[in-house]
Amino acid sequence: MGAQQRLFGTNGVRFVPGVTRDLDFVIGLSEAIGTYFAAGEVLVGRDGRLSGEALMNAAVSGLMSSGRDVAEAGVVPTPALQYATREFGQRGAVMVTASHNPPQYNGLKVMAADGVEIPRLDEQRVEKIFLDGSQTKADWKGVGVSRPQPSVVRAYTKGIASKVNSKLISERKFTVVMDLGNGAQCVAAPYLVESFGCKLLTINSLIDGLFPGRGPEPTPANLGDLSAAVRAAKADLGVAYDGDGDRAIFCDEEGKVMWGDQTGCLLADYLLERNPGASVVTAVSSSQAAEAVAKKRGGAVYRTRVGSVDVSRTLLERKALFGFEENGGCIYSPHIPVRDGGMTTALLLECLASRGMSFSRTVSFALPRLFQAKTKVEVDPKRVSQSLKAAERGAPGRIDRTDGLKIWTDEKTWVLVRPSGTEPLIRVFAESDTQDKADSLLKKYAKIVKSASS
Ligand code: MG
Repeated sequence: MGAQQRLFGTNGVRFVPGVTRDLDFVIGLSEAIGTYFAAGEVLVGRDGRLSGEALMNAAVSGLMSSGRDVAEAGVVPTPALQYATREFGQRGAVMVTASHNPPQYNGLKVMAADGVEIPRLDEQRVEKIFLDGSQTKADWKGVGVSRPQPSVVRAYTKGIASKVNSKLISERKFTVVMDLGNGAQCVAAPYLVESFGCKLLTINSLIDGLFPGRGPEPTPANLGDLSAAVRAAKADLGVAYDGDGDRAIFCDEEGKVMWGDQTGCLLADYLLERNPGASVVTAVSSSQAAEAVAKKRGGAVYRTRVGSVDVSRTLLERKALFGFEENGGCIYSPHIPVRDGGMTTALLLECLASRGMSFSRTVSFALPRLFQAKTKVEVDPKRVSQSLKAAERGAPGRIDRTDGLKIWTDEKTWVLVRPSGTEPLIRVFAESDTQDKADSLLKKYAKIVKSASS
């Protein structure tokens, strides 16, 4: 299709409603989506953003205008909508969400009947229908109907509970602090965790499209309240979700917040032990603890480019059991092959219940002691390749080119220099068996990248 205009980015169609796109756009695009689905009933849901209700109504109108019937789920986490799409036998789904983006953003995500985002080529088919203006416009008797679908969250939490040992978790009587970040998991995760007999304390637990608590993106830097609450309540763990609930970031009983690849490796250790010979998938930016765990448990690790779609695709190709990302997105295949913050929480509770130790001890028991350092360097977009060349020039050891440059300086030390796909930035990550080594490697490469780009 050549140089066709792209509407879909890495995670659906994103825009600022009323600024970069209007409701007419949403109606027209939804007519194109309905035309692409061609038949059947489409499930529609949204996260808690201020523009969500207006956009969802526009999406519903567009789908009905193209002749599709619609089931309206209202405010639900993205993975709940994805799970229900498959469970309820829907033709497909549309989620109105901008995930972790700032409050002014919103967007549309399109799912196939299996609950997974439609393939890239099908996104181009939808784009072509939209850009050609070849949407089906049903006449007065062909227009679709809509009905409420209030059972999505119940089906979702039940589905997750059926994949873990609820009895084992209940016996531990965990105390959990949950930072819902005013996001869509407000309607699901608390009920899931309470169904496991946990004592639950919540913060930022009311849906608010302005995300006044700590913003829609959970990072170790903005989860101070969660850590403090975990220590004050003497809780067993803390968990925080992103705006649409597909990612989960955890802290241990001491309030120490972990990056998602650390909890991902912990879960990989647990799941590979229970499923000998299984494999896991993660991006090139995740900790080498993944390989250490797989070696110990006799499993395989497949590394991909950075991005949830790459992880998902490789997971399906390799028939892998589990996938994870450093940002807290974890995928458990037996549930649904997409990222799910609720499923991740249930697996972590089962892992801790099974190990019978505190969270921090469980981590130190399962994972090698490794230290990470991360930074980003603003660069002139035209000089990105110079920066990469400069980094490569001084590289002492093995180089992995899966995504950017990953340079191994010794057996336990690497630095990743990777241009961002969406911003004029180069991200630099380092990992080593001492914090000093990681820090000095980070500093060295950040400097090389910066001086080559200015
Ligand atoms: Mg998300």
